[in-house]
Amino acid sequence: MTEEIYRGAHVGDNGRVAEETDKTHESVREEIKEFLIDDAEIGETLDSINFDEIQRIFSEKIQKSIPDSEARAHTISRPDVFLVTPEAFAKVGNPDANPLMSYMPQYDVILVNVLEMRRVASMYNVPIPLLTVKLLMHEQAHAVSSHYDRQSRSGNRVVQIGVQQLHMQREGSSQAIFFNLLNEAINEKLARMVLVEYLKSNPLSGVNHEDIDSIADIYKKPEAALLFFAALHFLEALIAKISAKSHVEPDKVWQGLVHAEMMGLDLKNQKVRGMLDAAVGKQGFTDELSRLNVIDDTEKMVQLMSKYGLIHNFDKFKNAFVRGVLIRRQKKEQV
Ligand SMILES: [Zn+2]
Repeated sequence: MTEEIYRGAHVGDNGRVAEETDKTHESVREEIKEFLIDDAEIGETLDSINFDEIQRIFSEKIQKSIPDSEARAHTISRPDVFLVTPEAFAKVGNPDANPLMSYMPQYDVILVNVLEMRRVASMYNVPIPLLTVKLLMHEQAHAVSSHYDRQSRSGNRVVQIGVQQLHMQREGSSQAIFFNLLNEAINEKLARMVLVEYLKSNPLSGVNHEDIDSIADIYKKPEAALLFFAALHFLEALIAKISAKSHVEPDKVWQGLVHAEMMGLDLKNQKVRGMLDAAVGKQGFTDELSRLNVIDDTEKMVQLMSKYGLIHNFDKFKNAFVRGVLIRRQKKEQV
């Protein structure tokens, strides 16, 4: 197993998030090496991935979302991938997080939390190669989304990735995050579409490919709620609502959301905010949505859906969600 999986992969150079400290991409990569860890199965899966094919599929989907009037090339990033222990996440600037994988736009790297992946794979009985490719696709979707750093009018720093914004004060570390839920939901839906298409031509060893679509369905099971079950349901309801309200086909609405993600649409902008409110048919929606996070705010999300009439299979979802939460709690107790 190579220690560093995709050494020398290209580092994106346009619109990258600027360094907060005097750390450089290289010094952070050096730091990460302290936390490298071997895992033969995850390593071999990553080694076998056809990144050119992934980039081709993303590129095709992104191009499809760009209106003809704006046709232009979109940069597809190919970050370095490192298998690390959980401590690496804290080390490179994400002290509270303990995700399975994480894309770090500052350094254009994907960190793979091997121990956490092993734990989750056995808890939900998901094959490691499938979990690896599935998660990688999600992080790769973040990597291809627009990301940039700007000063707001008040002088605060805004770091935007996709439609998500992180607002930081000039001094000190006070931060606020906006549109995390929406960003993750769009990202995940896109990643799953790419995953299903990718697996059709790039079978994974040890995974039954008889019915490719059912592989994506694994993650729709309520007990896999931590894998974006609720966020995806929310997104489908939002698309259905906008489609019904504005008489635009659901797929066109979806393409618009992909475009917003890839171009880094500023949903805090008053005009844009007003447009989304109008599309849903009620003022205040965008503002409330902006404060929801994918990890902790599922119950608030259910309230928001109810309040603004995002009722696509709402009862079915609510029942499934409650069941999912219960199953998750039980599993957590067992671990
Ligand atoms: Zn994500």
